[in-house]
Amino acid sequence: MAVRLNRRQFLQLAAAAGAGVTVLSAAPPVAARAGWATGTAAAAILIDIARCIGCRSCEAACKAYHNFPQGEARDLSPTAWTYVRTIALQSPRPHLNLGDGGAGRRTFKVQCMHCLTPACASACPVAALQKTPQGPVVYDASRCIGCRYCMVACPFQVPRFEWRSPLPRITKCNMCAERQQRRELPACVEACPVGALQFGLRPALLAEAARRISADPRYVPAIFGAEEAGGTSVLYISDVPFEELGFPVVVCEPLPAYTWRVLGKLPGIVLTLGALLTAVEALARRRNTLPPPGGAA
Ligand code: SF4
Ligand code: SF4
Ligand code: SF4
Repeated sequence: MAVRLNRRQFLQLAAAAGAGVTVLSAAPPVAARAGWATGTAAAAILIDIARCIGCRSCEAACKAYHNFPQGEARDLSPTAWTYVRTIALQSPRPHLNLGDGGAGRRTFKVQCMHCLTPACASACPVAALQKTPQGPVVYDASRCIGCRYCMVACPFQVPRFEWRSPLPRITKCNMCAERQQRRELPACVEACPVGALQFGLRPALLAEAARRISADPRYVPAIFGAEEAGGTSVLYISDVPFEELGFPVVVCEPLPAYTWRVLGKLPGIVLTLGALLTAVEALARRRNTLPPPGGAA
């Protein structure tokens, strides 16, 4: 759950945190490009739920960039590293720039949170997942042994396994790390037509989030990801409480130590469960290739 402060407490904290930090406008994040050049700070993505119109351009752009089949996704998968979730509100809310249709629902993009101290990377026994100094949490398939500890450890249920592949890999958003190296925006951020997604340096995006919250009392005075799971490189702000949108309740301490306490007691169970699930998948696949009962071709 997002850390809840009253508005006065929030703004005091934000002012303190934002001192000396460049505040971004809604214009393209020029400051972020300076960060790319110097490598002095890690990148992040700010997702403004109050601005999202649910057009799914971000979802489509991610699929196009990664050569995944197009089509609306309802969950993360090996071919959907992000998707747009829709939540119907119990009572319509005053809205910011969502148009008349936006009062009764909210839409927001779901993806890897790129945690500052990622539990997935901490749980991986062969360092196949790593947090880069630039911000993205990236995956090296050549190291992966398929134990799926990362799937168990992630507090946001992000990593997916290619169950149907003969050489299965873990899959998840990589924050378009290779695009960042070319000084391009993540494909999803570039595609958003209304500025609901913003890319930049994390301190600057925290300051920008605080600025938007202080400028409009309809925003909830909380930034999801500022502290959750020890802080994340994907940040959300919203005009509807995060708990009402079904955001997971995540402790604010970094999770790796906790992860290892739990996984250290469970390796046998985890590996056995993994082997069992693999066997079930193989059986299901075999059944699908068998001729139907009665011998009809
Ligand atoms: S959200 Fe999950 S998969 Fe992504 S970095 Fe955090 S722990 Fe890893
Ligand atoms: S950052 Fe890149 S990989 Fe991640 S959701 Fe956006 S487009 Fe997809
Ligand atoms: S492209 Fe922007 S407005 Fe459209 S669904 Fe994605 S975040 Fe929302």
